[in-house]
Amino acid sequence: MTNPKTPAKIFDLDRILRKNILDLVPYSSARDEFQGMASVYLDANENSYGSPLPSNYNRYPDPAQTQLREKISRIKGVPPERIFLGNGSDECIDLLIRACCIPGTDNLLVCPPTYGMYAVCAHINDIEVRKASLRPGFQLDLEAIGKSLDGHTKIIFLCSPNNPTGNSLDRQDVETILGSFPGLVVVDEAYINFARQKSFIQELEEYPNLVVLQTLSKAWGLAALRIGMAISSPQLTKILFRIKPPYNIGQASQELAMQALDQINLVNERTRMIVQERELLGKALEAIPSVLKIFPSEANFLLVRVTDPGRIYRYLVGLGIIVRDRSRVELCEGCLRITVGTPQENRVLIEALQKFQA
Ligand SMILES: *Cc1c(COP(=O)(O)O)cnc(C)c1O
Repeated sequence: MTNPKTPAKIFDLDRILRKNILDLVPYSSARDEFQGMASVYLDANENSYGSPLPSNYNRYPDPAQTQLREKISRIKGVPPERIFLGNGSDECIDLLIRACCIPGTDNLLVCPPTYGMYAVCAHINDIEVRKASLRPGFQLDLEAIGKSLDGHTKIIFLCSPNNPTGNSLDRQDVETILGSFPGLVVVDEAYINFARQKSFIQELEEYPNLVVLQTLSKAWGLAALRIGMAISSPQLTKILFRIKPPYNIGQASQELAMQALDQINLVNERTRMIVQERELLGKALEAIPSVLKIFPSEANFLLVRVTDPGRIYRYLVGLGIIVRDRSRVELCEGCLRITVGTPQENRVLIEALQKFQA
């Protein structure tokens, strides 16, 4: 994992994609075949009598999400040709795996402890999951990564800031991998808005093998709408469009997301509040006897090592306070993952922990 950067030369998307995907004749929907305005639409077996709802939900939505992608394009500073939208990032993860990995033959690499969906999606698709654990301190182990790869490794999944550890990965390490691995490098930036670290979106021109995942579920507060983004090369974006279910983002989600994207000032303000509250929550937790360690976080949660995770978890559940028990996760022994809440929610949590009898 020390090669100089020659990604454009070593990366060949056609070699990474499955042959059946390259050859695929995509489904052509009614909305693909006729675009433009007409007065009588009798092409899609929709219900012309309307829906029981006040809005125009009887028609299939735009399969290319053109307006929404243009709006996202302006906010992110990336052309729409590089933006793919999934039904949550989870759909993007699944489609990337299915585009590249031959079931029973190919493999992908993850760096635990990390987001569980990469491995679950791989297993659903019968793809071997190779693991190169993070080092203590939760940074990448480039040597272990190098040793785990072979000619069938199609994708490396990196998560920065990482879930559940909260830290950003060392940028130089990520670039080393981008510059030397001939497959796709997916950098999952679900929590990037809470980080000081810059997005890897800026590196897309330099690394044709880079895929940046972002989502509207976290900083944008739209987890229920299910909108995730895979931002990558125009070539790969085209492939993802060909293999996605035609109407993967519903009309209501597209409309509501567009309204929300107009409120960027509000979202940025709340993001600043969450970051500030994260620091206050960390300080308050430090003073609690059953808290042993608070790991530095660039996300909207804190990974916290406690004296007795199982008992503390159940104690909090008994009080109606739910955190995530990560104590059986490798390198997270003894840890709970706590989402930063409102000041009021955080106060309730802190007061409960102060009263916990060890
Ligand atoms: C929450 C989260 C996501 C977001 O997933 P969506 O399907 O877009 O809601 C993606 N990656 C990581 C690491 C996450 O923690």
